[in-house]
Amino acid sequence: MLIVQKFGGSSVADAEKVFRVAGIIADTYCEGHDVVVVLSAQGDTTDYLLEKAAEVNPSPSKRELDILLSTGEQVSISLMAMALEKMGLPVVSLTGWQIGLRTNSTYGNARIKRISLERLRQELDKRRIILVAGFQGINKYDDITTLGRGGSDTTAVAIAAALHADKCQIFSDVDGIYTADPRKVTGARKLEEITYDEMLELASLGAQVLHNRSVELAKRYGVDLEVLSSYVRAPGTKVKEVVKQVEEMKISGIAKDNDVARITIIGVPDEPGVAFKVFRALAKAKINVDIILQSKGTNHTTDISFTVAEGDMETARKILQDYKEVIGFSSLSVDKNVSKISIVGAGMIRSSGIAAMMFEALYDCKINIHMISTSEIKVSVIIDENYSDMAVQAIHNKFFGN
Ligand code: ASP
Ligand code: MG
Repeated sequence: MLIVQKFGGSSVADAEKVFRVAGIIADTYCEGHDVVVVLSAQGDTTDYLLEKAAEVNPSPSKRELDILLSTGEQVSISLMAMALEKMGLPVVSLTGWQIGLRTNSTYGNARIKRISLERLRQELDKRRIILVAGFQGINKYDDITTLGRGGSDTTAVAIAAALHADKCQIFSDVDGIYTADPRKVTGARKLEEITYDEMLELASLGAQVLHNRSVELAKRYGVDLEVLSSYVRAPGTKVKEVVKQVEEMKISGIAKDNDVARITIIGVPDEPGVAFKVFRALAKAKINVDIILQSKGTNHTTDISFTVAEGDMETARKILQDYKEVIGFSSLSVDKNVSKISIVGAGMIRSSGIAAMMFEALYDCKINIHMISTSEIKVSVIIDENYSDMAVQAIHNKFFGN
C-alpha cells in the first residue's frame, strides 16, 4: 500500500517525540508499505516565528512572512530524516518546491493548484521514506507561499490525492473525532466514522481537528482519511463519504462557538430592498454574516437579527449607524454575550424529531433560544453564552445518554 502520514506540531515537538513518531513511520515502512510523511513545524514554532517577525516589523509583507514561516516545517523534516537515518532506514526530506507543489499567489493563505509527481515517484521507486514539509508551496513567480494556519493537513491530503494513496492518516495529540469536546463534556465518545460533510460542518463550527480545506479536498478526491493519535496505537476516526448507520446514533456531534455576536435592527420598513441594503453594506466591508432572522414587527415594520463574528461586531454596528437614514430603521441592539450551539448528523435527512429533541434538552434546563437555523445535516441555535456549556452537556445527555 501507499500510505501518507501527517504528524502535527505537538507530535514532533522535541527529540523524544521525534523518535516516537520515527517509530510509527519505521513500523509502517517495515510492514512493506510505501510511505510519504508530511510534517508540521515543531510545537509552537510557527507562533514563535510570527513573534520574531513582529519584533522587527509589525506589518511585514506577506511574501517575506511566508519565507520565514515556511522554515518551521523544514526544521521538522530534516530532524525526522536524521532520526530515521540513525535507525538505518533510507529516507529523504523534501520541501514544497522540491516536490513541485504549486499554489496560487495568495501569500499566507495560498491554495494548492497541482503537485508534479516526478520527484515523489522517483524517490518511492528507490524505496525511500519521503518526508515532506507541510504548509508550503511555490507560486508562479517561484516564490514560497504558505497555506494558512493548520495547512499541513491540506498538504497531506493533496499528496494522497495526487498519488492515489491507499490512505491518508492524520496523527496528532487527539485520538479521533468526538461527539463533543471530551475535555469539557462528560460522556463524549470517540466516533468510529464520520462523513466528509459532517466533518466539514464540525470543522467550520469550531472543532479544530482538521484544516477545513483538507476535508474539502478529501471529499472531492475521495481520499481515505483517518484521524488518529501519535501516542496511542489504536484506530482513530475514519472520515469518508458514507458511513454505516449506527442505529442509536441520531447525530454525530455537538459543537459550540462562543465567537458569535448578535445584531438586531429594529423597526425596519416592511418593503422590498431593505434586506438587500443592509447586507450589501456589510458585504462591502467583507463582514461574514451567519444566521439571519427577519420577523414581523408592528405597523408595517420588521426586525432583522443576524450574527457575525465578535471581532466584526463594532464595524458592523458603525456601518449600520452610517446607513441609518438610507435603511430607515428606528434602533439597533448588539449582544456579544451569545453562543451558537449546533448539532450535526447526516442521519437528520432521514429521521424526524431531531430538532425537537435538541429544543427539549434546552427547555429542560430552562434555556431560552434566541435564533434557530437549520440545514440538511445541522441545527444551530443562538443562546446566552453563560449557558453554553450547560446546553452542550444537556443536549449531549439527551442524544447519547449520561
Ligand atoms: N505550522 C503551521 C501552523 O502552525 C502549519 C500546520 O501546523 O499545519 O499553522
Ligand atoms: Mg493542525
